[in-house]
Amino acid sequence: MNATTLFYIIIAIIIIDFIVDKILDALNAKLYSDPIPEELTDVYDQAEYHKSQDYKTTNYKFGLITSTFSLVLTLAFLGLDGFEFVDNIARSYSNNNIIIALIFFGIIMLGSDIINTPFTYYQTFVIEEKFGFNKTTKATFILDKLKGLLMMAIIGGGLLALIIWFYDVTGTHFWLYAWALVAAFSIFTNMFYARLIVPIFNKQTPLETGELRNKISAYATSVGFNLDKIFVIDGSKRSTKANAYFSGFGSEKRVTLYDTLVNDLDDEEIVAVLAHEVGHYKKKHIIFNLITSLLLTGVTLFILSIFISNPLLSNALGVQIPSFHVGLIAFGLLYSPISEVTGFVMNHFSRKFEYQADNYAKKTYKSEPLVSSLKKLSKNSLSNLTPHPAYVWVHYSHPTLLERVRNLRM
Ligand SMILES: [Zn+2]
Repeated sequence: MNATTLFYIIIAIIIIDFIVDKILDALNAKLYSDPIPEELTDVYDQAEYHKSQDYKTTNYKFGLITSTFSLVLTLAFLGLDGFEFVDNIARSYSNNNIIIALIFFGIIMLGSDIINTPFTYYQTFVIEEKFGFNKTTKATFILDKLKGLLMMAIIGGGLLALIIWFYDVTGTHFWLYAWALVAAFSIFTNMFYARLIVPIFNKQTPLETGELRNKISAYATSVGFNLDKIFVIDGSKRSTKANAYFSGFGSEKRVTLYDTLVNDLDDEEIVAVLAHEVGHYKKKHIIFNLITSLLLTGVTLFILSIFISNPLLSNALGVQIPSFHVGLIAFGLLYSPISEVTGFVMNHFSRKFEYQADNYAKKTYKSEPLVSSLKKLSKNSLSNLTPHPAYVWVHYSHPTLLERVRNLRM
């Protein structure tokens, strides 16, 4: 194996990944105007249905343009030795491995963010706007970008600096220390996500006392679940789309409802959605996901430790002076088929868990309010009611609406 062969393997992985993705998108798009299954005919009226088809087609075409653009750019960057160019810039500022890596990733991240911004701008202010979803102001859009970049610089930069330091000090054993660091960090963010990260972007207020809160408490008591932390988040600041999620564990566990969800659903439907979320907790899905992702991280870091000191990784990207940071990028590209596979294994589990959570809600509460809430949420986000099975298999973390409705009514 030499650097040129490895370079072509990387190019092949990128192109194959692109082609597979486009085939799945095209298969999915072929079914956009399939007849709506009988169980779901009450989701849209005729006008809304046409609007949803228009929305899907618009997003499909836009996705085709952006992904093609990004493929061409990636290939050009690789072909023109872009990484060598950026590495040289970083090296002109310092001799310290950590500083070089931080400048290197800083340039790559900032560069790709600047290139992507016109596309996200178009997505938000033209597409989402046209279909009535967008509530983001230009000020929020810019602030989100800046906060996101700053967070990435502090957290991403901090973690990267520590990992390179472990590598410099302990050699190939660095993966154990890096694993411990990532594990501690992800348990910490899982625990305090709602307290530390969410407030940077949103306002959360405890759900006010009243009928809804009483109904939720009554349900929680009936299943022996301590649910005193229920928060409403101002999702309507950005979009009309609705959501609800569970976060934290132990004393930090809480449920967060989007204000849009509270407005769109009636009380029974909201309790049914919460019953589903409680189901995830009771069935230990949250712990399972955390442990699985920690194990996957450990395995990935271990494999990384086997290859990272091989100069071929850096050379394959056309970079003459081998380094951890360039090796990391080459490794990431070579490893991407494996992470694709683990990604859809995880999606498979996730879909199983959704059924379990739905069944839990059915058993401990009622199924019909959950059915009607799922239909309302689909309608309000103009969801695709007829996705292609192959597309679902690869990309969906949730079963389709039809599958969930059939399961709930079984
Ligand atoms: Zn769920």
